[in-house]
Amino acid sequence: MLLELTVDLDAIVANWRMLHRMVAPAECAAVVKANAYGLGVERVAPELAAAGCATFFVATIDEGLQLRGLVPDAAIAVLAGPAGAEAEAESANLIPVLNSLEQVIAWGAWAARRAKMLPALLHLDTGMTRLGLEGTEIERLAADPALLAGIRPLVVMSHFACADEAGNAMNDRQVERFTRLAAGLPVAARRSLAASSGIFLGRHTHFDLVRPGAALYGLNPLPSATNPMAPVVRLTAEILQVRDVDTPMTVGYGASHRVAQPGRTATAAVGYADGYLRSLGNRGYGIIKGERVPVVGRISMDLTCFDVSALPAGSVAPGDRVELIGPGHGIDDLAAEAGTIGYEILTSLSHRATRRFVGGAA
Ligand SMILES: *Cc1c(COP(=O)(O)O)cnc(C)c1O
Repeated sequence: MLLELTVDLDAIVANWRMLHRMVAPAECAAVVKANAYGLGVERVAPELAAAGCATFFVATIDEGLQLRGLVPDAAIAVLAGPAGAEAEAESANLIPVLNSLEQVIAWGAWAARRAKMLPALLHLDTGMTRLGLEGTEIERLAADPALLAGIRPLVVMSHFACADEAGNAMNDRQVERFTRLAAGLPVAARRSLAASSGIFLGRHTHFDLVRPGAALYGLNPLPSATNPMAPVVRLTAEILQVRDVDTPMTVGYGASHRVAQPGRTATAAVGYADGYLRSLGNRGYGIIKGERVPVVGRISMDLTCFDVSALPAGSVAPGDRVELIGPGHGIDDLAAEAGTIGYEILTSLSHRATRRFVGGAA
């Protein structure tokens, strides 16, 4: 196995249960967009459903259609909205998040055509300026309830911009704005604001439904504190070659690393085509036999070199493994070395890694 990604399904379920208990009596959904953040939605979603998770969020209709086959009884919300796929959404019992007046009108028109009440979530923009009904659209909805004819709004939602910064004044402004805007709408829907980091801002952000993604997969929702979540992912690569370096020489493309003292390098079967980001060149770390080994030289498409001089001669051999993500070096550590966030690391891990699932009921 050149590159192996181990996913601990029990840890994902434990993380969901922890958040579920933390927010009760609010409901804890699970965000499984982008193939459950790259880990494998076909294994992750059924485990969460079996643990009691009743509501899932995905990004697109296509993701929703795939998920419907995996969790037949769950509520599935689609963040992008119906996006011209009203028929598919309705037939698979997907609940679109309506992000604009245009989407409200389109979903209402589809409901009229089908002579049915159709469920939806209403997304209010409270500061992301990304998706969601904006101020004037919300005023129009509030003034003209007929715009919602045929639509049964189950949840009114919004999204925090700065929830990972507990001290940021934007958080309270968004809570206040969300509370006020939701109260002004002519609907009796549940309310949802918090994702992973937002949950940790306190009970006043939980409302009726929370929508964690990252924290379920072991990412730290509290970037400046100890990670309260259980680690989920381990990524290891096979060492293909070990080189003794006794005369000064350079490593890799661009000769960007110069070995000055005698030592050893190990070449591992992982590269940027696997999602081991190129920005880790000369900056990342791996772990071999408990020892921290730095990346030396640039990351190649399929290969990365580590300086293993700290390990005794003869102790690292082809066939040994370097741990790239694991208990001693988490996703967030690797992300910091790469100059990015754990979300990007997780969703970049390619399909070339062999996925091994451990734990789980199935
Ligand atoms: C992705 C997303 C989430 C989940 O966010 P995490 O930070 O991964 O918990 C929740 N809500 C919306 C609208 C999202 O786009």
